[in-house]
Amino acid sequence: KQNGARPKLTVYLAAPRGFCAGVDRAIQIVELALEKYGAPVYVRHAIVHNRYVVESLEAKGAVFVEELEEIPETDAPIVFSAHGVPKSVPADARNRRMFVLDATCPLVSKVHIEAERLFDRGHEILLIGHAGHPEVIGTTGQLPPGAINLIETNEDAYSFVPKDPSKLAVITQTTLSVDDTREILAILQDRFPDIAVPRKDDICYATTNRQDAVKRIAPKCDRMIVVGSPNSSNSMRLVEVAERAGCPRAMLLEQGSEIDWSEFENIRSLGVTAGASAPEVLVDTIIDAFKERFDVRIETVTTAEETISFKLPRPLRDSTAA
Ligand code: SF4
Repeated sequence: KQNGARPKLTVYLAAPRGFCAGVDRAIQIVELALEKYGAPVYVRHAIVHNRYVVESLEAKGAVFVEELEEIPETDAPIVFSAHGVPKSVPADARNRRMFVLDATCPLVSKVHIEAERLFDRGHEILLIGHAGHPEVIGTTGQLPPGAINLIETNEDAYSFVPKDPSKLAVITQTTLSVDDTREILAILQDRFPDIAVPRKDDICYATTNRQDAVKRIAPKCDRMIVVGSPNSSNSMRLVEVAERAGCPRAMLLEQGSEIDWSEFENIRSLGVTAGASAPEVLVDTIIDAFKERFDVRIETVTTAEETISFKLPRPLRDSTAA
């Protein structure tokens, strides 16, 4: 430390950041299930894409699996993650008489229902999303194999050959880049003027709001930290959005202990946000680490107020009243 005089640093804290209503509900479902039924509670796939959240729930007795086959015969509840599941999964659970608590975000379920409705009307469906993401696997799995075509890039949108261009429809993953998706939609609408599109897209309010807040602060930040795990789609998008909106370098960090200080020499301003699956305690660890080295002044920049919340599954509703 140099003579105790710490350099000044303005931290622009993006708001909204961190937990969305779907993540909040999903974590509550696991916690309430543990309280009501006791451990173990099985969870199919990481309940939300955050290592800290998963490890904290494991410590309380949650057991994470990737597939139902890994679960022994049991009366214990099985929670489906916030990202949603292919139709075959609840069917399989019913056959095995499993007690399921579905933590699929209602905004993901909405896309599932839309996909079915379009399919029933005879549409060929395009899904804008990232291959291999559990939400994409879940949405694709609402319909028979081959009914949904994945579009990941502008090139995919240019090269797609429909069976019948007058019977096309498009849906999207909920956690995409708003701007990239707009571009892909424009290409598709230009090529196929009759394509049925969602009123805007299916990107959820939380993804949109977090990207808007980052865009607002990015131009005044020398660096941007996005708190989140690398498997979190919406967190990865925030890193891209920050750099495109004018921040020279943005990076994903899971917590304060991971900071590579060589990245932050001589900076005067730092942006901080968090993906929809990252708890606020992790944001605190980052800010505390900076406070040890800098004379920090925090400025919160709020671009939207969020009041949305979702109902719990019926078996857990009464347990919150207590
Ligand atoms: Fe639901 Fe959006 Fe949160 Fe995903 S990011 S859980 S779609 S609210």
